[in-house]
Amino acid sequence: MPRIAIVPCRAMPDYEESVRRVGGDPIALDRLAPVPADLASLYDGVLFTGGGDVDPARYGAAPHASYQAADEGRDEFEIALARAAVTAGLPIFAICRGMQVLNVALGGTLVQDIPTMVNGALDHAVPEPRYHLAHEVWVAKGTRLSTMLRDKMVEGDILQVNSRHHQAVSTPAEGFIVSATAPDGVIEAMERPGDAFIVAVQWHPENFYRTGEFRPLFEGFIEAARPA
Ligand code: MN
Repeated sequence: MPRIAIVPCRAMPDYEESVRRVGGDPIALDRLAPVPADLASLYDGVLFTGGGDVDPARYGAAPHASYQAADEGRDEFEIALARAAVTAGLPIFAICRGMQVLNVALGGTLVQDIPTMVNGALDHAVPEPRYHLAHEVWVAKGTRLSTMLRDKMVEGDILQVNSRHHQAVSTPAEGFIVSATAPDGVIEAMERPGDAFIVAVQWHPENFYRTGEFRPLFEGFIEAARPA
């Protein structure tokens, strides 16, 4: 059974259950300890989870008034973890803050506050219920995301997603492509083409584990993480 390292966050059960339901073994990491040096021998994949904002100093920006720091130690731990996981060639699935921290770790930048920095922004902060479908996204053809969700889209490229974020990726890190955008231009998913499974989404697919709308994302991740 693939061993999936999960960055601990305040809403762990849905992430853990999403991994279990597709045959993975979720293992919470210790964010206050150093990243294990032998990451690839301990785990088969890494799941980055939701949380507060990445310190903008990490990508060379001054903090916006809305900045809400993440839990102690997370920036340091997750940036090191992301770099180590990419170097080790481990499959990576990054969700919400996870997508943002992965992007910053690899040299990208963020939009610090969608409502004040994106013209004509949709409402991306709809906290309840967690599975509320807040807006649509347009999926780029030929991407891993599109392949995994081919049976879930309408008109070939449209998905309805939930949304609980006030930040987003601005400039994707080198080597990444944008795989989904919201109608207001906000980047909602990205991935790194290549042999390794490196997929990130801005919405919260883990909140749908009961109904399975986004189960193919977890299935694709676990399949990539399955030991050969
Ligand atoms: Mn959104």
